Amino acid sequence: MRVVEALARIRPVCISRITPHLARGEELRENMQLLLEHFFDMLHQCVETGEPGWLEPVLEEWVSSRTQTELEARVSNLLPVLDRILQTTIEVGRETLEAPQALALVETVLPFFLHAFSYTAAREMDFNIRHISHQLELAKATLERLDRSKSDFIAIAAHELKTPLTLIEGYAAMLRDSLPEKSETASPAIILLKGMDNGARRLREIIDDMIDVSLIDNNLLALHYQPVWLDRLLGVLRNEFEPVAQERQLLFEVHAFPGSEEMTFGDEERLYQAFRNLISNSIKYTPDGGVVKVGGRKLPGFLEIVVADSGIGIALEDQNRIFEKFGRLGNVSLHSSGKTKFKGGGPGLGLPITKGIIEAHGGAIWVESDGLDEVRCPGSTFHVMLPIRKIPPDDKAARLFRPLAEADSSRVT
Ligand code: ADP
Repeated sequence: MRVVEALARIRPVCISRITPHLARGEELRENMQLLLEHFFDMLHQCVETGEPGWLEPVLEEWVSSRTQTELEARVSNLLPVLDRILQTTIEVGRETLEAPQALALVETVLPFFLHAFSYTAAREMDFNIRHISHQLELAKATLERLDRSKSDFIAIAAHELKTPLTLIEGYAAMLRDSLPEKSETASPAIILLKGMDNGARRLREIIDDMIDVSLIDNNLLALHYQPVWLDRLLGVLRNEFEPVAQERQLLFEVHAFPGSEEMTFGDEERLYQAFRNLISNSIKYTPDGGVVKVGGRKLPGFLEIVVADSGIGIALEDQNRIFEKFGRLGNVSLHSSGKTKFKGGGPGLGLPITKGIIEAHGGAIWVESDGLDEVRCPGSTFHVMLPIRKIPPDDKAARLFRPLAEADSSRVT
């Protein structure tokens, strides 16, 4: 008996034995039976022609008809089906045929099944990859939409809060003016007004930060390039933070470094804001008696500014997150409020603004820390790479500052 005849003989038994294993329910069973008939037709063609490609269309049809749930489960459902067909073919062949015929049948069909296994595995993998990429695209679109709404919310909230805040500031000023001059120091009204002023100032800082974040988010942060000397800028910050550092018994050092005395072009006010955020964070997250040091070095084409502290440190997994808006870490309710109090939390906008400012200058910022540990205090080190610009990037500023830039370059060479 030829192998094709042997296959035709065992086929009905095979199909009736496989069907109940694979499909429950009458309708599904009928469907399965049709699929198996089709499969065996094609297997027959393979045996006749010696060409395993005949099985591919039917396998393709099976792979592409997998349901969403099956795709999400990310397990192969077709390889076990093929395995069941192969096992049953061998089993029924052994039961029904003479031993040499059964052996010839297995020898003949085995390469076709091997081809079917590898083809199915590859196609299933393709489908899974396509499915996962599609899911990723969807997740990315959702995240982008969420980020957009967050950004819109910040812009609207900042705008809406500005008007009532201006009213509060205006009325507080009128109230102060209406108080008699002589009661300036002692009056309880003056003390209350001071409290109001502090609250209003903090609120304005937060609103300004919200506006800055939405400018950065929308690529609208406009830099006003002018000559900057980093040693001077850092000197101003040293004077500003020295009293607070003393109050918190911190060793606070700001070192000028080679290159910091050179003129570079940048937006002085924005750079001041960026380094102010870094220093105030270092002070905020370093316990009393700790160390905060600011220094740096000159690299080819760049100045690297380093703000290092001996504070509580930052967990490895959070070292990117803190640069995202609202990336403040820890329990919100545990944070006190304040710019320099130990762990005095803010809204989590400082670092995203700092990053936005540095990147708008064509620079980069990152943090290094051995992790978060409030007992051991491993500290954090923020690195800022700022490109050295001898000419401002916009034409107007370049024309305006040309004499200064020329004088500086002749001084350096
Ligand atoms: P916040 O307003 O909360 O200070 P930031 O954007 O400035 O917001 O910082 C985000 C978070 O990064 C902080 O809440 C804090 O958890 C962490 N962080 C920033 N700087 C430091 C630092 N020097 N040491 C430890 N943690 C820091």
